[in-house]
Amino acid sequence: MSDQPIKRRKFIAKSVQAASLLALSSSAYAIGGCTADTRKLGIALLGLGSYATNQLAPALEHTQHCRLAGIVTGTPSKIGAWQKNYAIPDKNVYNYDNFDSIKNNRDIDIVYVVTPNALHMPFVVRAAEAGKHVICEKPMEISSDRCKTMITACEKAGKKLQIGYRLQYDPYHQQLMRLGQKQEFGKVKLVNTGFSFYGVNNDNWRFTDAKLSGGGPLMDIGIYSLQGVRYSLGEEPISITAQRYKTIMDKLPDMEETICWQMEFPSGAVANCTSSYVARENYIRVSSEKGVFGLEPAFSYDGLEGYINQGVMPPQTHIQQAAQMDAFALNIKENTPVIASGEEGLRDMVIIEAIYEAARSGKKIIL
Ligand code: NAD
Repeated sequence: MSDQPIKRRKFIAKSVQAASLLALSSSAYAIGGCTADTRKLGIALLGLGSYATNQLAPALEHTQHCRLAGIVTGTPSKIGAWQKNYAIPDKNVYNYDNFDSIKNNRDIDIVYVVTPNALHMPFVVRAAEAGKHVICEKPMEISSDRCKTMITACEKAGKKLQIGYRLQYDPYHQQLMRLGQKQEFGKVKLVNTGFSFYGVNNDNWRFTDAKLSGGGPLMDIGIYSLQGVRYSLGEEPISITAQRYKTIMDKLPDMEETICWQMEFPSGAVANCTSSYVARENYIRVSSEKGVFGLEPAFSYDGLEGYINQGVMPPQTHIQQAAQMDAFALNIKENTPVIASGEEGLRDMVIIEAIYEAARSGKKIIL
């Protein structure tokens, strides 16, 4: 057990290495193609809600290595517009009942699960059993046990699994990983981060149904702060304290409205994090022995801004979801490890469970 933090640190360091390798291999494609496989892998989006409609489908118009080839939906009225907008043939349209027959469809290489959180596990398992590679949105599921089931199903089927951590493929966030993990400004001592929005009155499942969401803002958006801390440090937390608060008592049944949590790391670094549905914050700030760097806004789809000490990080034009899906398609074509893997999603879920336990019990949880 005593070498656990070292092993974990190595794992994250490997993910930075993998990110650099990915950048090299992507640019090799861009300058003329070092691989014989120029086919665009077919993606079927499963769950045609807000994120699939407004972010993923448009991003798939900008991908080099994959394309929108099919849809899986429980709402027949949506089908016509999707077929028209994206030229999807009838044979690539599925519902939740006939979805398993997707295994016979050679147009579809990847199923991308974009449903409410507690439906990720059943659909990921079915997709893997149908012989498809799978992308699953964050949070991976609502418990670590369910995440393990998903990992096992994909392993058993010999299929790759990516979690929709778009920011792991964003150049600003890759800068955080590089500056923090390579200790460009010495050892990181303190990370402050918060991701919140004011949205408690919305009636979407994420605010009304804890059985589907698994929790409040921590599961939904605080997970980005958790990720940001982990990859800025390249370490895993060894202890957690947390507090949760509520000001609008009749809203957000069985879930937190605001949560604050603190994490201690093997190096002695500490992190102070918040996530809330009644606040407005979107930042990460990493303080090191010889400098400070960070992002604000940090976690949005675009418009991120970064700083290193008094200077600004060079601006980046980048479609996060296109980069994430292209990276996964390349992982499949080249049989390389997935950066935002199922194991990465599971690690976050174990920590989230500890954060909730710390908030519930008022005790420090040792990991
Ligand atoms: P949404 O409510 O807009 O869409 C959910 C979809 O699932 C809808 O099409 C709905 O019809 C379908 N669905 C199937 N069964 C359902 C059920 N029993 N109850 C409710 N809906 C059901 O949600 P969304 O914002 O698109 O989020 C979907 C997933 O994507 C979530 O896991 C969320 O965390 C994730 N997400 C990720 C990002 C990101 O930046 N990576 C952003 C937004 C959402």
